[in-house]
Amino acid sequence: MTLHHSPRIGVLAIQGDYAAHAAALSEAGAEPVEVRLPRQLGSLDGIILPGGESTTILRFLEKDNFFASLREFCLKKPVFGTCAGSILLAREVRNPAQQSLAALDCVAERNAYGRQIDSSIVTVEAALPGGPLEMVFIRAPRLVELGPTVEVLARRDNDPVLVRQGTVLAATFHPELSADRRIHKYFVESVVSA
Ligand code: GLN
Repeated sequence: MTLHHSPRIGVLAIQGDYAAHAAALSEAGAEPVEVRLPRQLGSLDGIILPGGESTTILRFLEKDNFFASLREFCLKKPVFGTCAGSILLAREVRNPAQQSLAALDCVAERNAYGRQIDSSIVTVEAALPGGPLEMVFIRAPRLVELGPTVEVLARRDNDPVLVRQGTVLAATFHPELSADRRIHKYFVESVVSA
């Protein structure tokens, strides 16, 4: 199905850097919608779960059955989780264990990098045209135990940092904090062709 309008893509706007994601989505040709209530999900073609503090985001999702509605949405429509958002999407979370949407077949280890590379900016090769990508890592998780249908689009050293499983996309870094819009465009294209 092709959309006859620019795709309406939600950004979970509970906590974290959702405004930067909304701006990035506009630049990538989508109509961003700040999502704070589960009933807003109905009008969306896709959603971004931004970085922030996954525990804090989870606490807000406890209200009004938001968690269950979001989980249902993620199984039907494209979703892109960045940093804390990727933790929310994982099948299992460690360090410590917490609830997750289980939409992405991997385990997320929170705050997996030692103090020295806790937060860093690196430029690495990715499976997107246009050359290496800048990646901003802030207290990033490590994605491990990837299922067989999870495709790795980029690695930092040996760790997968940009992955995709069907209509689920996840980055352990913050693409909204770089000027390069290729990743948001890639997500918007996947929403349009979903
Ligand atoms: N460390 C955060 C968490 O565990 C994620 C950090 C981020 O989103 N920048 O939820």
